[in-house]
Amino acid sequence: MTTSQGGRGDPARLAVYADETLGRYGFVEKPWFQPSERLAAFLTEAGRRELAFDRCSAPPATDAELAWFHTPAHVAWVTERCRSDRGSVDRAPEPVVARARVLLAAIAAVGVATEASIAETVAELGSLDAWAPLLQSDGLVTWDGASVALTDAGHAFLADPQASLGGPTFARAAVERAARHICGAVVDAVRRIQAGEIRSAFVPIAGFHHAHRAEARMYCLYNDAGLAVEAALRAVDGPVAYIDVDIHRGDGVYEAFAEQPRVVIADVYQREGVARGEVVETEFVGRGAGEGAKRALGIGPLDDAAYLAAFEGLEAFVRARRPAFVVFEAGVDGLATDPMSDQDLTPAVFREVARRVKALADECAGGRLLVLGGGGYEITGLAAGWSAVVEGLTTA
Ligand SMILES: [Zn+2]
Repeated sequence: MTTSQGGRGDPARLAVYADETLGRYGFVEKPWFQPSERLAAFLTEAGRRELAFDRCSAPPATDAELAWFHTPAHVAWVTERCRSDRGSVDRAPEPVVARARVLLAAIAAVGVATEASIAETVAELGSLDAWAPLLQSDGLVTWDGASVALTDAGHAFLADPQASLGGPTFARAAVERAARHICGAVVDAVRRIQAGEIRSAFVPIAGFHHAHRAEARMYCLYNDAGLAVEAALRAVDGPVAYIDVDIHRGDGVYEAFAEQPRVVIADVYQREGVARGEVVETEFVGRGAGEGAKRALGIGPLDDAAYLAAFEGLEAFVRARRPAFVVFEAGVDGLATDPMSDQDLTPAVFREVARRVKALADECAGGRLLVLGGGGYEITGLAAGWSAVVEGLTTA
């Protein structure tokens, strides 16, 4: 691997945006999503395999660039909220709020609570270790790692039946900075691909596909995948394909472009209620003028062969629409080792999928391909999965 600053690399080599500023995206409160760990693990494994790519960096996205995808109000609110280093940028779902209410009432009843003193409630709701940091982040409790007590805000929450609770996407200045760098890398990559300076790029810490245009969701402040699609729509005249193999559905990208006929979406994700070995067509086919330009497969747990068979259908769907630019969200949280899914997939499947997406981009889009890392939360698997993606992109 060699290092270059924008534009000086060999255009035929894969450009990988892998500077430490992007790598810091993570949440110290979440043991499986620590800042810097995921990027470091990938780079170590890539180095060990002597993968061939140019390592590069880009400036952070500006407010104006973020507003290609997001509402200016969302950008302003996320930026401002993260400056405080407190609370969340999303709201917790109603069932979580209801459970928090039960826990806070149990704590209030004993004053200062430990796991032992409210054992019955803890048995029902899960450990204090998991709950207390979330409640503390919203300023509702004080927590020293062993005992927990309500603050004034906690008492006010209990007294107000309408009060809501912050979601899992914590508002942190460091995360917002990293998110801007990720979006900056995406914008820079699309610009360089379109200018012919490079053919394809990989941004490993990226693919935060759950954020909506006006809403942060599920650890995603800004949707760099949606931003990549917007940048590509500006760069080419023809269709832009968005292919998403992350084990979670790319809901933020889908909702943003459901009615846009130029955006072809192919998504394969683990769907609740789908049995082992089964694959179902879903309702996410687009709306209005965009109807028929999207296809999403919901899968139960699959092995490599069954997964590739399902992917083949998506590949044909995209190829038939002759995209002029391809954005590929290569989340590897479908690996058998990953805590986020029940799949039986090995890194080999991601090597093969990446190889096929690259071939498709070469055939239809003049090679114009931007790959985003997406999910992957078991570190060894993540490093092997993304390395396999790079191998698929760089070996014919
Ligand atoms: Zn995921």
